Amino acid sequence: MNASVGSAGDSFNPLQQLGRRPRLLIVDDQPVNIQALYQVFAHDHQVFMATSGVQALQLCREKQPDLLLLDIQMPGMDGYEVCRQIKADAELAALPVVFVTAHSDAETETRGLDLGAVDFISKPFSPAVVRARVRTHLTLKVQSDLLRELVFIDGLTGVYNRRHFDERLAREFQRARRQGSSLALMMIDVDYFKRFNDRYGHLAGDDGLRRVALALKAQLKRPADLLSRFGGEEFACVLPDTELTGALSLAEAMGEAMTALDIAHADSDVARSLSVSIGVAALRPHGTLAAADLVTAADEQLYLAKSGGRRRACGITL
Ligand code: GH3
Ligand code: MG
Ligand code: MG
Repeated sequence: MNASVGSAGDSFNPLQQLGRRPRLLIVDDQPVNIQALYQVFAHDHQVFMATSGVQALQLCREKQPDLLLLDIQMPGMDGYEVCRQIKADAELAALPVVFVTAHSDAETETRGLDLGAVDFISKPFSPAVVRARVRTHLTLKVQSDLLRELVFIDGLTGVYNRRHFDERLAREFQRARRQGSSLALMMIDVDYFKRFNDRYGHLAGDDGLRRVALALKAQLKRPADLLSRFGGEEFACVLPDTELTGALSLAEAMGEAMTALDIAHADSDVARSLSVSIGVAALRPHGTLAAADLVTAADEQLYLAKSGGRRRACGITL
């Protein structure tokens, strides 16, 4: 596919992990300069072009390029200012900027690097050198994107991990407080899972957890809903803008999804297949209530669901 983008002989090539052609944005007020760079990259990159700083910033947001080749001297907003605005914008800051300039004195380069650019290419350029440099910076960019994502993903189940859960819960709690909206939290625990491992083995247990995670996640309706593995055979679900009744109906759908999943569990006292118990707590943040109180309350409801017979949900509004 895009084999020619990577260097030969790599055992692991992040650029191939991308699964698409890398996206480049070329910015220069002189179309002839854009053309020259376009020729270098067009056959194995997706190339976007801008002839002004304003247009460049707009395309950065719209097209989400992987790398920016940026001229410094442009009328109106110059390349320095474009770079400064990109680095000041949390959504764009990870975008690598390579300056392409006719003036490659130390002062020019230092100023660009201080603004957060990763490299300089001087005009007139050698196509081979430009390709090699761009490949290096694209590789680093894709690699750091992958790592950034992995930090928040649970290795076994592929859903978000505890670290991401903690961050999102804190953020959603603040948002609910600001907006006066309702925030719900679900704690979901697999029933009699120790017995499942004992009977079917730990590997079957792992596989069961993976399938449970996917089935639970498939029930989420809104993009802001977040399922994560809280630990062991326990999952947590953050539901922004959700009241207790809404969360309880999602809990019921999750229970039904477990029945439909139908993973045999001969040693369960409550079903023939893997089931879950769910504790739900919802609140509009007020007074001294903190995110930790929501976790504690959902945990208490989970305990009630377990002691009340398992394979059910209990909930409370704080
Ligand atoms: P309850 O219905 O009260 O929740 O009973 P339980 O057996 O599910 O609860 P308990 O907390 O006693 O046991 C949890 C079990 O989950 C024990 C542990 O071996 C298993 N478990 C936790 N994490 C994993 C995992 O990553 N893989 C596998 N296979 N099992 C796990
Ligand atoms: Mg359990
Ligand atoms: Mg447990």
